[in-house]
Amino acid sequence: MEGDQSPGGSAVSQDTYLLIGGAPPLQQGRPRSVPRGCRPWRLWHRTSLCLAGPRKASWRRRVVVLAVLIAVLLLLLYSLGESSHRTIMSMVRGRPPEAAFRCNGPVNTTSQLPHPHAPPRPTQSRLREDPKVLLFTETQYSRTGQAIIHILVANRIKYKMEGKYGVVVFENFERYLQIDPWNRELLDKYLRDYGVGLVGFMPAREETQVGAKLRGFPLYVHSNLGLENVSLNTDTTYTPLEWAAPSLPHFSEERLILSILDKGDYDGISRVLFGGNLDFWLHRLLFLDAVSYLSLGRISLSLERYILVDIDDIFVAKKGVRMTTDDVKALLDSQWRLRELVPEWRFNLGFSGKYYQNGYPEENAGDRMLLEHVDEFWWFGHMWGHTQPHTLTQEKLEHQMQLNKQFALAHNIPTDSGYSIAPHHSGVYPVHEPLYDAWKKVWNVRVTSSEEYPHLYPARLRRGFIHRNIMVLPRQTCGLFTHTVFIDKYPGGRQTLDSSIHGGELFLSIVYNPISIFMTHLSNYGNDRLALYTFESVIKFIKCWTNLSLRTVPPLQLGEKYFHLFPNERDPVWGYPCADRRHMQIWAKEKSCEQLPKFLVIGPQKTGTTALYTFLAMHPAIVANYPSADTFEEVQFFNGKNYYKGIDWYMNFFPVPANSSSRFLFEKSATYFEGEMVPQRVKALLPHSRLVVTVIPPSKRAYSWYHHMRAHNDPTALQYTFHQVITAGDGDPRALRSLRNKCLVPGMYAKHLERWLDHFPASQLILIDGEELRSDPVYVMNDLQRFLGIQPFYNYTEHLRYDKRKGFFCQVTEEDKTKCLGRGKGRIYPPMNESDAKLLKEYYQPYNVALEKLLTRLDYPVPKWLEEELQ
Ligand SMILES: [Zn+2]
Repeated sequence: MEGDQSPGGSAVSQDTYLLIGGAPPLQQGRPRSVPRGCRPWRLWHRTSLCLAGPRKASWRRRVVVLAVLIAVLLLLLYSLGESSHRTIMSMVRGRPPEAAFRCNGPVNTTSQLPHPHAPPRPTQSRLREDPKVLLFTETQYSRTGQAIIHILVANRIKYKMEGKYGVVVFENFERYLQIDPWNRELLDKYLRDYGVGLVGFMPAREETQVGAKLRGFPLYVHSNLGLENVSLNTDTTYTPLEWAAPSLPHFSEERLILSILDKGDYDGISRVLFGGNLDFWLHRLLFLDAVSYLSLGRISLSLERYILVDIDDIFVAKKGVRMTTDDVKALLDSQWRLRELVPEWRFNLGFSGKYYQNGYPEENAGDRMLLEHVDEFWWFGHMWGHTQPHTLTQEKLEHQMQLNKQFALAHNIPTDSGYSIAPHHSGVYPVHEPLYDAWKKVWNVRVTSSEEYPHLYPARLRRGFIHRNIMVLPRQTCGLFTHTVFIDKYPGGRQTLDSSIHGGELFLSIVYNPISIFMTHLSNYGNDRLALYTFESVIKFIKCWTNLSLRTVPPLQLGEKYFHLFPNERDPVWGYPCADRRHMQIWAKEKSCEQLPKFLVIGPQKTGTTALYTFLAMHPAIVANYPSADTFEEVQFFNGKNYYKGIDWYMNFFPVPANSSSRFLFEKSATYFEGEMVPQRVKALLPHSRLVVTVIPPSKRAYSWYHHMRAHNDPTALQYTFHQVITAGDGDPRALRSLRNKCLVPGMYAKHLERWLDHFPASQLILIDGEELRSDPVYVMNDLQRFLGIQPFYNYTEHLRYDKRKGFFCQVTEEDKTKCLGRGKGRIYPPMNESDAKLLKEYYQPYNVALEKLLTRLDYPVPKWLEEELQ
């Protein structure tokens, strides 16, 4: 961008250019020391979002020198790689690759934070507590938009596409420039009043454009240039953050700006503008820094990063790819070198004792040497014979763990880490309860880690949870598997590994996750020692290019830190195992998704759900859950403490599927309907399930519920009249207020239905009119059978009969008598008094209006009682 004289009269720099490039070539940047006057509070420490010193003049020479160095180095390593390949079989190896990343400046070896990550600017106005990013994307699927969302989600930054915000992001800055003046002024006023900044991306263009004026700004835009190096400039209203190459002939030697900080001198709004997209790793860091800067620090990431590297398979590897004494020495040396960069660095070794001394003589010497240096590492029990836990009973699991523990005791390996890893993540998630039991009993395990929750991919969505007091932490992938042993055999070649280290996937894993646990294997430390190369390289790269402070702590502390940082992740969300091929592979053979319900009757209470349950259970193809000792016919899994017992517990309420099973399992828990967490949990475990909701006039439901509670001797219901309950105020006793809520809240049908419909499509939900179920159950049950798609069709006409004495339909028995619901159902109590009825009618009016609108919108039939209520 080219500077202009701003109308406000403040001078702007003469040489500011914003580059809008196509895909920029990814050059190895060269590091610079942080200039004086700059507070390095941000992720990236090589460029400045604040005051900066003059830039150095010798950048071109340095790039050339660097390029030559890299070329020489690559040649050298290539020839070494070749020689190691030739000598694999003889076990006489060439030199493994070394962490060869060169950092021209000093590697940042300070372990303390350079500066607290505090708001850079004070503000008069206050945003609400939980600031979000407001994001404007081009379309739902546009590319940079998706990339922005990926970064925000990976870093757990909340965003919304519309509402109050900490930062506003435009995927296409031109959209912002094109907003009509009235709306633009509204948005700008909001930004100014709340001190909220704006991030904009200039769309990449194919055609070259020179010096087009940016609408409404004293800036000129050049497009279609390549990414150059990164540098700093003097302080103006437009501060360059990153530079582009002047590859076109008519440009002189000067460089152009690729991303720019607009400090708001022109119109009072701070902006960071990016040329191009987020493909280059540096842009991703700059984007996170921009969000932090422009939200005045309200949306900021900590600069602390914890890394733990597990070597899971100590003693587990084939002959020929295990560690020799040289490899063990290299591991120890590497550990010492890493301590310069990450204080107290230790590798975390997981052993399977059964395979001790299972290699060639020089490898067996390596095994012994590891144990001679037992104090140098952290240790944890992997599994005696590396068996997958989900295939074992608890007894066998305990036996295997005992053997490994005895091995540990015999070799002075510590047994108190509280950490363990299951081979192939088996049994951790989906949960195999015997593993958790055996872990607790034999090893007192308190923390583990897995790649599988909620799924292996996408990796950025991996999260933690706590089950039965064992913390399950997410692990990240570093690209080293048991078979990645030689650099020249690395999938995609060495270049793939190096690009992952130099700003790619591995680098970003550490940047995006405050806590990263990486899994490696014994074979990654023998042979070409790829793990040493990988971790030394990535840690040096991070130290060279960022302000991140790297730490490591033992797993137990790491677990406590994790759930302190992310308390919302404590509660698990149990997923449907059969939607994930990998989950199926590590789920016990005797378990089956056929043992999960196909539909749920979700309530609410006192709308006829018990009658419905009885009628459904009459159907030969429909099978209800087994009764619960605590909650009788209802399982009540998704709404309370039972949820933490896990899905094995839940599945035990349903029969093991028979071979020719076409049975429809279902359960009814009438309090699911209004439970805050329930729709999300049901969606996760039973994504295909149908949902059956029954509704009657809400005031009638409230009244019936109150009498139900009295009939069950609820002390509060017995103590207060219905009028006292429904008119209870905030000053009343807690028990009374609680009773009031349970009495009134479920009747806000529209509100709860909307929550279910946030998670389920309308086609999976059926609404039954409880009044109609009472007056014409045959019609309702036929309709429901069709909705559920149940075969064979059951003729309820022959099986339901009106019982005059009871006043409702009952089941016809084989002796042609009627069998009706128990004493509690169809209870008789005095009618509601008129003033309460009037009060409730007014109270529910807005919810009923909303319900009618919702049903009409969804093209559901509107119950007759609702039409009457609204007349
Ligand atoms: Zn393993």
